[in-house]
Amino acid sequence: MKHYNAPMCGIFGYVGTRKDSTKMAVDGLKSLEYRGYDSWGVAWKDGDHLSSQKEIGKISTVDGSKLSDNSSLVIGHTRWATHGGVTVENAHPQFNEEKTIAVVHNGIFENYQELRDELKAKGHVFTSETDTEVAPHLIEEYMKETQDFAQAVRLACKRFSGRYAIVAVYSKADTMVAARTGSPLIVGVEKEGSDVIGYFVASDTPAFMAHTRTVQYLDDGEMLVTNGKSILFSSIETGEEVAKREIEIEWSEERANKGNFEHYMLKEIMDQKESVAWAVNQNDDEIETVAQAIRDAKGTFLVGCGTAGKACMAAEYFFSVVSDRHVNFAPGSEFKLYHHFLKTESLLIVISQSGETADVLEAMNIAKSKGAKVLSIVNVKGSSIDRASDYTLHINAGPERAVASTKALTGQLAVLLLIAYALAGKLQEGKKLLLETAAQINDMLNPRYIDRLKQLADIIKQKEDLYIIGKSWNYPMALESAIKIQEVSYIHAEGFAAGELKHGPIALIEEGTPCIVLVGKDEVMPDILSNAVQLKARGGFIIGVSPEKNEIFDEWIKVPEAGAAQAIVNIIPIQVLAYFLAVQRGKDPDMPRNLAKSVTVK
Ligand code: GLU
Repeated sequence: MKHYNAPMCGIFGYVGTRKDSTKMAVDGLKSLEYRGYDSWGVAWKDGDHLSSQKEIGKISTVDGSKLSDNSSLVIGHTRWATHGGVTVENAHPQFNEEKTIAVVHNGIFENYQELRDELKAKGHVFTSETDTEVAPHLIEEYMKETQDFAQAVRLACKRFSGRYAIVAVYSKADTMVAARTGSPLIVGVEKEGSDVIGYFVASDTPAFMAHTRTVQYLDDGEMLVTNGKSILFSSIETGEEVAKREIEIEWSEERANKGNFEHYMLKEIMDQKESVAWAVNQNDDEIETVAQAIRDAKGTFLVGCGTAGKACMAAEYFFSVVSDRHVNFAPGSEFKLYHHFLKTESLLIVISQSGETADVLEAMNIAKSKGAKVLSIVNVKGSSIDRASDYTLHINAGPERAVASTKALTGQLAVLLLIAYALAGKLQEGKKLLLETAAQINDMLNPRYIDRLKQLADIIKQKEDLYIIGKSWNYPMALESAIKIQEVSYIHAEGFAAGELKHGPIALIEEGTPCIVLVGKDEVMPDILSNAVQLKARGGFIIGVSPEKNEIFDEWIKVPEAGAAQAIVNIIPIQVLAYFLAVQRGKDPDMPRNLAKSVTVK
């Protein structure tokens, strides 16, 4: 779901009747903090000029005295630096020299150097190191050709290459212009009765959820212009108008907020008391349709990245064990190399929490260019992947804000297992198993259990290395355990297929090295326990995650016996452990370094 060097800033924009727009922008940006950022800024229309505030660090330090309380047009940004260091000059909004045009930008203008050289030759002076700064300058150039601001933005966008989203404002117009190609931008429509009283644009819905739940989706290659009363969507390429529907979002604000929890990560782990059941609650006909599509396909591929990729790997086992079917997995970024096997009869199953993962979108484009069908399993409704798929199943986990994915993973696993059961002609049996598992998870996540994992984190928090082994569907969960621990606690953690240990990694085990062993009560149980004995013989400190106690475990973390759903229950205590390892090592689990929530660049 995420990887190194992956920008995913937050964008906020508003135009309408409200006068407190700068305060809304700051609140909106705070709700996008989970996406990761290093600096932030806002610009607002002040009479006929633009004012701004830009800062390094967290928005919680905001000094409201510099902000206007009488502006109805604002843009804001949380920056995750890609081009140029973390400085106030490089923070967005970026301006033209006269400060009449302001732009916030997510993503990368890949050809910015060429544009910058061209603009410099025309006399433009740049004050930042960002790729973004070419945008206001280029728009200014096009304003000389056309007096129309939106048209100038459109001409500028036609020059950009790469994946990006921008919002631009002009000091002499009460309009906001936004465009996207590859990075998300969602429109919020605020109404009084049937009258529209304001429009928001943001990278994600929590930014405006306090004001409206009516949304419109901007698609790739499209732009919009709005004055707060009406909105016009059009194609960047042709300028032709595009019609849009309004959609009501169902997620309540409470499900998107932290509630009483200190961190989103813990809140979302605890959400799994219910979210697995939400995922299982699928329409039977839709699951059967998907199962039939897999039966009909000549070659089915699973594609996902990071944690979602581990769900795909687990599903390879689900399909093999439960429904006797061979399905291939490739990480999104590797899929290109498989395109020779794609035909019109092929099926691509893609998994993504955000529905915006760039590597997955690229894999979809490759599959579609070969005429193959695409089924997606996503959390965010209306996301790019959702809309570009032939079929979509939603996992209904509610917003997942912590960078480290938890409830989205278990929802993905539940839906994939349900499909495997449907494929075997046993949908109801699968549903029953998963609903029982959901109830067991509800029991498991009690305060005593959480406390037990907290204590275990205390015992191992000073360790520098940690290994996790699993077999069958617990093997991808061992890989996922490593991701979870790495990304929030920064402990070096690695996962292995249990039987692979003796082929190399066992050389790393020393006296006291923590080794987590993921066990299920199944046919491979004796094998993995014997691998655990090998670790113990080299001094490993064995933490068994298992439905049954075993004498070789130095610590036993009990999990319910869940049959084919064992992967779902086994990963949950590791999520809790990773959370406490982060907290006890003084790290913020919601804001891991170098990472971002949805990875919209390749
Ligand atoms: N490439 C831009 C910059 O470095 C935007 C990064 C972002 O998406 O936050 O300023």
